[in-house]
Amino acid sequence: MLAVANQKGGVGKTTTAVNLSAALALAGVPVLLIDMDPQGNASTGLGVERSERYNGTYTLLMSGRPDKETIRSTQVANLSLIASDIDLAGSEVELVNTEKREFHLKRALGGSPVFSGYRVILLDCPPGLGLLTLNALVAANGVIVPLQAEFFALEGISSLMHTIEAVRRRFNPGLRLAGILLTMFDRRNSLSGLVEKDARDHFGDWVFDVMIPRNVRVSEAPSHGKPVLTYDGRSAGAEAYAALAEEVMRKESITIQQQTSPS
Ligand code: ADP
Ligand code: MG
Repeated sequence: MLAVANQKGGVGKTTTAVNLSAALALAGVPVLLIDMDPQGNASTGLGVERSERYNGTYTLLMSGRPDKETIRSTQVANLSLIASDIDLAGSEVELVNTEKREFHLKRALGGSPVFSGYRVILLDCPPGLGLLTLNALVAANGVIVPLQAEFFALEGISSLMHTIEAVRRRFNPGLRLAGILLTMFDRRNSLSGLVEKDARDHFGDWVFDVMIPRNVRVSEAPSHGKPVLTYDGRSAGAEAYAALAEEVMRKESITIQQQTSPS
């Protein structure tokens, strides 16, 4: 289970959650994407309209188990979604006074056999380090941190690393950094290159080899309710996310179950 997290907004969390999910699914890996952000951008990006935002993440967190409508199939084969319900916006406040408030997601995911059918569960976190992000970090094994290749990119990343470390110590000893992903990379802009150098100097192998270029098709796709991979599979953005999926599969030792051929 991988959380896509960075307390900064607009760095490419949702874009990465949606497109990495789709790329893994298209490679044959059964994936469940859980939209943890009350803004619901991942849900919109996969074609779930605002009026359909119920029986989703909020229901799962509060009831502790999925309803039969909670897990939705998407237009992409192998990719399922738990959408952000409208009520998720109030949940940070509602969760505060609950018992074991950091563990709602972990408990819900452990409490039902339907989740074991997914090889990968991706969590699209909201900006900030509130209880929704904490619930994601407590449930996850790994964190993918998107970093926008622009000025001040590395600012704030140390507080995220401290949070990850604190969650590991207090709640989830199995949590580790899965990788740092440079997003909206622009080869013509020398600043992008500087950010890359800074990130690789600081974090070495933690930085994914694959970088996501700034690409207009990536930003257009959500308004069509599609991942860029099915919106324009030959775009630079689609190719980058497909390559990222391969790198993630290699690093996380995710193998595709071979179809046994009839003998
Ligand atoms: P976050 O979830 O971290 O707030 P988003 O994934 O929503 O960030 O991205 C913020 C904005 O940047 C969105 O409008 C998105 O379409 C755009 N964006 C993200 N990645 C790219 C990219 N590789 N190329 C072009 N636009 C991008
Ligand atoms: Mg987002």
